[in-house]
Amino acid sequence: MKFIPYGRQEIIQADIDAVVEVLKSEFLTQGPAIENFERAVSDYVGKRHAVACCNGTAALHLAALAAGVAPGDVCIVPAITFAATANCISYCGGEVAFADVDDTVTACYDSCRALLEKYQAEKRSVKVLLTVDMAGNCCDRAAFKRLKDEFGFVWISDSCHRIAPEKDCDGPDMTVYSFHPVKHITTGEGGMVVTDSDEMAENLRLNRTHGITKDHKRFVNNSEAHDKNGEINPWYYEMQTLGLNYRMTDFQAALGVSQLKRLDWSVLRRQQIVEIYKKHLGECKNIAFPRVSENGIHAYHLAIVLIDFEKIGKTRAAVMNSLRKNNIGTQVHYIPVPMLPYYAAKGDSNKLPNSMSYYKKALSLPCFPTMSDDDAMWVCENLKKCVGEL
Ligand SMILES: *Cc1c(COP(=O)(O)O)cnc(C)c1O
Repeated sequence: MKFIPYGRQEIIQADIDAVVEVLKSEFLTQGPAIENFERAVSDYVGKRHAVACCNGTAALHLAALAAGVAPGDVCIVPAITFAATANCISYCGGEVAFADVDDTVTACYDSCRALLEKYQAEKRSVKVLLTVDMAGNCCDRAAFKRLKDEFGFVWISDSCHRIAPEKDCDGPDMTVYSFHPVKHITTGEGGMVVTDSDEMAENLRLNRTHGITKDHKRFVNNSEAHDKNGEINPWYYEMQTLGLNYRMTDFQAALGVSQLKRLDWSVLRRQQIVEIYKKHLGECKNIAFPRVSENGIHAYHLAIVLIDFEKIGKTRAAVMNSLRKNNIGTQVHYIPVPMLPYYAAKGDSNKLPNSMSYYKKALSLPCFPTMSDDDAMWVCENLKKCVGEL
């Protein structure tokens, strides 16, 4: 029997053809495929601008820069996420304050509010609040919009686990996607920021390409930009800020356009797999599922179960190892970020009870669109044996 990993990509012939076509074309980078991909995603999610870049971490960094995060700024990040969500703040010299999660494993409203009030009392404003659509579960958009209106931070959504249409008015300022192979759609490595703000989009594009602009409308040094007759000098460009090279290639973008056509199917298939898990594991005394939020579709990037390892009398490592012997790959998403040595050393003293109890129980089961129903049943059967319920 083949090994079933916790997640994997699907590449079909149409994807390969799309990539080969660009490889044979004139532009491997900075060509038209990038704009095609950006337009396809911005149409899909209903945002005015999309800026593609080289990975999701770079997209988060660009978003933090566009939000204006600078040394000394406080930014709120939920404790249960991938390290990159917090790192984008650290790259800019910002200070990360970790919020707890709720029973949907997304940012806890009360915990975020308490932090916002604490910093307000200290006369320090919070620059950015990052929410994460953990595992594909949609965080409470309306609640965080109210918080944003009250406290005036820039709201960035790390939606690396969930690419879905955003409603116009109550969405985040910027939403970030990753196209790593385990995510819903892949470009190998890749990321994107979507926004309705013209100003943020312009900043994202500038920082993506070295901080250099060739747009004559934006030039600041007019005597260098123009000749005596006021004509633009043809070689002229300006570096206006210390930007990065975070570009995506055109063949990656072509892969993205091709993959995007199967996004709806991919989400649907993941939902079907989780239905099988819920049907067959739902009855088990010591297995639970995180609450599904009512705020939007659950995209099930991950199929997380919560296992009471103490009650079953087995460690998580023992369960993972025994599943692995039966060709089933599992993973833990995630170790709470404030527990990672880099952040723990900064001595964050916030109490995060929900995050810690979630971490004790979490296990991600295989979930990807090319898995068969039989694969999912095999997972259920073996996990039931592990927890002593078969
Ligand atoms: C994958 C992921 C990232 C980083 O994306 P990369 O493309 O791997 O850099 C950031 N945040 C979350 C929640 C992710 O799952």
